[in-house]
Amino acid sequence: MFKLRQLIKSDFCKKCFGCCRFKEKESIWIPKLLEEETYLLKIKKIKLEFKEEIFICSFLKIDSNLCKIYKKRPFECRLYPFLIESKNSNLFLSLHKGCPFIRNNLDSKSLQNYINYLNKFLKKSYYLSILIKNKSIFSSYPQEETIKLNKLV
Ligand code: SF4
Ligand code: SF4
Repeated sequence: MFKLRQLIKSDFCKKCFGCCRFKEKESIWIPKLLEEETYLLKIKKIKLEFKEEIFICSFLKIDSNLCKIYKKRPFECRLYPFLIESKNSNLFLSLHKGCPFIRNNLDSKSLQNYINYLNKFLKKSYYLSILIKNKSIFSSYPQEETIKLNKLV
């Protein structure tokens, strides 16, 4: 549904163990599903498995560090390390400082270009209407862990 161009090359992500794993069972960082995705994936939310002291998305192939449903992976997985934040009934685009790629590229032109691309993409009426319709699924994240970029709606 959201065919977003990716900022980070898959080779970089494959060597990183930052995604798809969560410290807590009810972590706010677990990707939420759009209503449309609950039908497509036939689940209400991402299921986690507790392995080696951490909660791991059940769609993660641990040996290869790849997603079993990569082509159908949820919007929030495609979007990360960008986030949609909900605050005072508005939606904002933010960036998670926890991603090592982001920490290393904060001042890069490619990051700025991607932010411009993302804003244009998400503000297209088709995508924006899906986000508005699903407003209730989006979270607010700890301020010190994110960089607020701009208001979407
Ligand atoms: S934390 Fe960042 S670099 Fe690491 S896998 Fe996730 S998106 Fe890729
Ligand atoms: S659905 Fe795929 S990309 Fe999303 S958290 Fe699970 S393994 Fe990671």
